[in-house]
Amino acid sequence: MNIAKVLELQDLYIEAGKIHKEFEESEINKEYTKAKDNRSAAKNAIQEVLRQADEYQVALEALGKQIQALAEEAKEIADSDYEGIDLDELEDEKGEIENCKKEVQAMISKADGTKSALQNLFRRVSQAANEYKKFDAKRNELKPAFESKSLEIKQKFDTVNEKIKALKESMNESDVALYEQTKATVGKPRVVVKLTEMNCGGCGMALDPSAYQKIIQDKCGKCPSCNRLIYVQE
Ligand SMILES: [Zn+2]
Repeated sequence: MNIAKVLELQDLYIEAGKIHKEFEESEINKEYTKAKDNRSAAKNAIQEVLRQADEYQVALEALGKQIQALAEEAKEIADSDYEGIDLDELEDEKGEIENCKKEVQAMISKADGTKSALQNLFRRVSQAANEYKKFDAKRNELKPAFESKSLEIKQKFDTVNEKIKALKESMNESDVALYEQTKATVGKPRVVVKLTEMNCGGCGMALDPSAYQKIIQDKCGKCPSCNRLIYVQE
């Protein structure tokens, strides 16, 4: 293993990581992301309220139809021919009409409740629309600075990536593969560490004599504790 080149590759990956972190932690990225997230939240709120409003409108229409049907029923009873009808039957018919009236009253107050709920929803939608406008304006205001920061970062990334590419081409494939695998296993770029006395230079774990001997012999090896690559400095 060409340890010098592997360490060089590692340094480049660490640099790429720093560039990424610089972008993530920049004020402009944080502010822009916040404005964008708030804008999406306001948009979702508007959609949710409009969906509820649709449901209320459908309910109102259904109530309107039921009220109309009941009113027609009552009118039919009232308009029917009462000639020759006996008193008891007449009382029954009157009772029917009274019931229809009561049902209509109940439905009208239900419809009134739905209407005022609908008005509340429209107030909420206009609030959410104002929020949306506010965050949209903020996002547009931040956009040029965000885009220029993104471009700056991209250029830095491209430079490092070109160096990584060129370096890899000059390396043994197996060295590149070993570094990349170790990086993926450990989950961070700094994975090639020095042997310090009998300890792993990454996690500090003391190696047992046989693992230590093997590393000394092979000039490098895996840490049994943290999986980093331990190398012996010449
Ligand atoms: Zn270790």
